[in-house]
Amino acid sequence: MLSIQNLHARIGDTEILKGLTLEVKPGEVHAIMGPNGAGKSTLSYVLAGREGYEVTEGSVTFDGQDLLAMEPHERAAAGLFLGFQYPVEIPGVSNLLFLRTAMNAQRKLRGEPEISGADFMKRVRAEAAVLGLDIEMLKRGVNVGFSGGEKKRNEAFQLGMLEPRFALLDETDSGLDIDALRIVSEGINRFRRPDRAVLLITHYQRLLDHVRPDRVHVMAAGRIVASGGPDLALRLEAEGYEGIAA
Ligand code: ADP
Ligand code: MG
Repeated sequence: MLSIQNLHARIGDTEILKGLTLEVKPGEVHAIMGPNGAGKSTLSYVLAGREGYEVTEGSVTFDGQDLLAMEPHERAAAGLFLGFQYPVEIPGVSNLLFLRTAMNAQRKLRGEPEISGADFMKRVRAEAAVLGLDIEMLKRGVNVGFSGGEKKRNEAFQLGMLEPRFALLDETDSGLDIDALRIVSEGINRFRRPDRAVLLITHYQRLLDHVRPDRVHVMAAGRIVASGGPDLALRLEAEGYEGIAA
């Protein structure tokens, strides 16, 4: 589904990704762990198509299509979702208007009809209830005045509403208390389907206790340095990155 081959990318003169290869098949959940500065967020930005990142070598295909040749909004319409490590605040644009606009823009690009106001609100109520988000809060500006945990729940809310096929979640578990972590984990587990895949960037085994990954990868200095099953995350917890990434 997502195939990354020998990816090299730089910001300005600094090469951050240095030959990263990763293959995620439909139905799979992969986790990427690794020390700060390894390039995990850079990978997610390159995949999402954020400006300022130059790919100098390698390829990325999404369902066989050249992902790197697509504009960010085309990537989203194709079914790619990125949950940010640091969700941005957008004053003056309500969460609901933002989401409905995004949903309809994606539908339009796919040649699908717009979602009706009634259907949209029905979905909003259902998703918000599951995630414990207040509808009144969702009428406020995007993430404005949200606590760190609320922003992360809002990422999970967007995931549930947009129904992408590939979710790339950058530290969606960071800053969550135990209850919120369970709620967000359930959101990820509900998202799991044989035709969808998830790439989770995380520092914490406790997320992986709730969301059992098929594969765990360790990233260091811009590439994958170790891969294994869920046990690898337990080994990392016990031994730290140094022993494994060396
Ligand atoms: P991680 O998410 O694994 O902690 P990042 O992808 O955020 O790592 O960062 C990888 C490296 O890229 C770090 O050394 C960081 O300082 C550097 N970096 C990130 N953003 C920029 C930028 N805009 N300009 C220059 N260097 C950057
Ligand atoms: Mg990061």
